[in-house]
Amino acid sequence: MKLLLENWRKYLNEMEEPITTLRIFDFDETIAHTRSETRVVAPDGSEATLRDQQEFEEYMKAAAAKEGIETFDPVKDLQELGYQIDLSDFSIVKDPDEITIVTDIMRNFPEDSKTYIMTARRGNSIGPIIDYLEDIGINSSQVRVMATQGKSKGDVVATMINQKIMDDGKSNIHRIEYYEDSQRNIDDVLNKICNNEQLSEVKPVDFALVINKVIKIDDGYKLEQSSC
Ligand SMILES: [Mg+2]
Repeated sequence: MKLLLENWRKYLNEMEEPITTLRIFDFDETIAHTRSETRVVAPDGSEATLRDQQEFEEYMKAAAAKEGIETFDPVKDLQELGYQIDLSDFSIVKDPDEITIVTDIMRNFPEDSKTYIMTARRGNSIGPIIDYLEDIGINSSQVRVMATQGKSKGDVVATMINQKIMDDGKSNIHRIEYYEDSQRNIDDVLNKICNNEQLSEVKPVDFALVINKVIKIDDGYKLEQSSC
């Protein structure tokens, strides 16, 4: 009886959610350009204002090297060493410009798909991001917002693929469409999804990861596609 119920529940889950495609969107510089700055005071008293993601990554990389930190996201370790890192601009959506080449794709929800925003921001940004989606006319009830708080996005995506294993031993996820501006995150996802021995056992034979890199150009943005 228990087995029957288990099977029935499984069947119902699959009926309700025949999800085969995940669409994963980064937020900053992918869905919107914002005027968020990070202000830092180092333990030696030196101050810096980091005006965009590139400046942010360069500063954190240099500071981590200086302090001998090797974690994927050194922010927390640097804070523990006495760096004052003010991320408060990232708890709101500050002066956003919508990146329509991406949002026009996002607002069309394909069948059998699930749509995520996966941001490296902290959890307190989830509410403001949901409000922003409503502001630009995207039905936020169809989007799940996840804040990875600096954790490796590749690890999170690998967990998502492993979440639901079908009777044939393969994941229900056959296709992932990933929209992202950061090459560092793209490299991490490629590495953890495409070159992962463990994952190859659960990947369906037709599995595809399609990466759309969001690139700033003179008069707007363009998408550069790659896949594995
Ligand atoms: Mg970004």
